[in-house]
Amino acid sequence: MKEMQQLFPSIDGNEQQRNDFLGYVSELVSKLDELKDPKKLSLGEMPDYTKDYYEQVMNQAMIPENGVAIQELIDQLIELAKGQRYINSNYVANAVPLPNIPSLLGNLLMVLTNGNGLWDVEGAAPALAEVKITSMLSKMIGYNPEKSGGYTTWGGQGAVFNSLRLAITRQFPESNKEGIPNNLYCFCSELSHYSLYKSVEATGIGINNMIRVKVNDDHSMNIDDLKEKIEAVIANGGIPLYILATMGTTDTFGIDSIKEIKEVAMKLEDEHNLKPIYIHADSAMGGMYTFFNDYDFAQNPLDFEPRVCDTLSNFQSKFKFIHLADSMVFDFHKLGQTPYISSLFLVKNKSDLVNVDLDSSETPYIGNRGYGSYHTSYTLECSRMGSSITILASLLGLGIEGYQRLLANYILVNHHFRDSLKESFSNVAVTNEVSPITTFRFYQDEVVWEKEKNGELTIDEIREINDYNDGFAELIGIERDVVYFGNTKKQRLILPKGSEKRIPIYAHKFFSISPYTTVEEVERYIGFLKDHMNMYEKQPVLM
Ligand SMILES: *Cc1c(COP(=O)(O)O)cnc(C)c1O
Repeated sequence: MKEMQQLFPSIDGNEQQRNDFLGYVSELVSKLDELKDPKKLSLGEMPDYTKDYYEQVMNQAMIPENGVAIQELIDQLIELAKGQRYINSNYVANAVPLPNIPSLLGNLLMVLTNGNGLWDVEGAAPALAEVKITSMLSKMIGYNPEKSGGYTTWGGQGAVFNSLRLAITRQFPESNKEGIPNNLYCFCSELSHYSLYKSVEATGIGINNMIRVKVNDDHSMNIDDLKEKIEAVIANGGIPLYILATMGTTDTFGIDSIKEIKEVAMKLEDEHNLKPIYIHADSAMGGMYTFFNDYDFAQNPLDFEPRVCDTLSNFQSKFKFIHLADSMVFDFHKLGQTPYISSLFLVKNKSDLVNVDLDSSETPYIGNRGYGSYHTSYTLECSRMGSSITILASLLGLGIEGYQRLLANYILVNHHFRDSLKESFSNVAVTNEVSPITTFRFYQDEVVWEKEKNGELTIDEIREINDYNDGFAELIGIERDVVYFGNTKKQRLILPKGSEKRIPIYAHKFFSISPYTTVEEVERYIGFLKDHMNMYEKQPVLM
């Protein structure tokens, strides 16, 4: 077994095994560094994804009879990393983070100690970190930390699923035995993430019972439409169970007014004698901006530009009410710049968890021992990675101010990008409000965005503009190794002239997500678009 032991860390902290391990880590990091090139997005060459690329991979894949030496293993791992995109200043596509160093250290501690977040006896470190971050972030958003609860889970989508489970069991505590009634309804904005779509499917509520609410011009949920749609459900004998308030839509950062949603819900509950409708704030995208909830924009201690302050104080006016939600989420692996998966699901009243908790007789391995006082048998996971340590490390390493600087820079860069975009192109329209994301749309001739929005264009005209943008997205996508812009095929819905049905519009996305995405880089992004537009105007890609 001596030989096998060499493949494991020491148990006594001896110097030789430590140095061996640090040597491997150092070599891995050095070789990875050799692949980095600030002018390119990928580590090494992007793979040539020929038609049979994965077929060849499958044919060659075999477990070795004997383990390879660590040196060779490192080389093979580095081969694997080749072609992987690396988040430097060339990436402006989606909310994909470059994990910060404090979070990487936290993550390393997590894997080195391999605690299980399920139970403090098996995971003292993750349990402690989880209790800390739950309290820290509850205080940040205005939940009472003595009443709130929280746990790390499988992403923003996991938070939606978990919240729906709480919504069902809060109204129907027996549903875990009896199943759910067939007249439950959920409401979400038509621009909400598909997380709820999957969750209504998986809980058995059914996609037909997920009602999409129209949005306003700023991509937030239209409250009158919400009210009408809930009333219609009630009139037909349905039970309004759950409202998903998106705080930061994925493509355009629309922020639903949770205050108005809560008011409507309470009014209807009162009028129709309903049980409280559960509200989950889907703040996977926007939640980090609660770090400005206490920022004093009059004093402006961090000296942000006035227009950055305007944008941020507009966010503040909405995020300061997030505590009205029954639950919310922090997706640190989006704007919080930590590795996957680090998402904290926060619940306003931890008593809501009681209905989904397992009876201790159902958890014979752990739940009925006298030792250990932290046992999360209410999570859908059994074993849980200790990503609370990753999150805690990031919070400690950056602090509120560090996060404010990062998050404000995303906004600043977007202001500059928009200015420059509009100056450089006569055929572009910016199609969303200022946020970490700019969506924009090109036109072959004159810019007709206002007309499009006002329903003055026919379906065919809108589709032609969509195709024009689709072609351009294809063209710039070929060189995504140089600058990688995002795009979306449903930025919002608009009503064509003479039509009953709204159709989605395509837009390009500039997403400022990295500390390396700075104002100084903006001209390069614009230059890239200009070069390609010149090519495109000469020879549009035929779709
Ligand atoms: C990204 C996103 C999700 C899903 O989050 P994951 O962490 O990827 O599971 C849910 N809702 C919104 C609004 C998002 O932007």
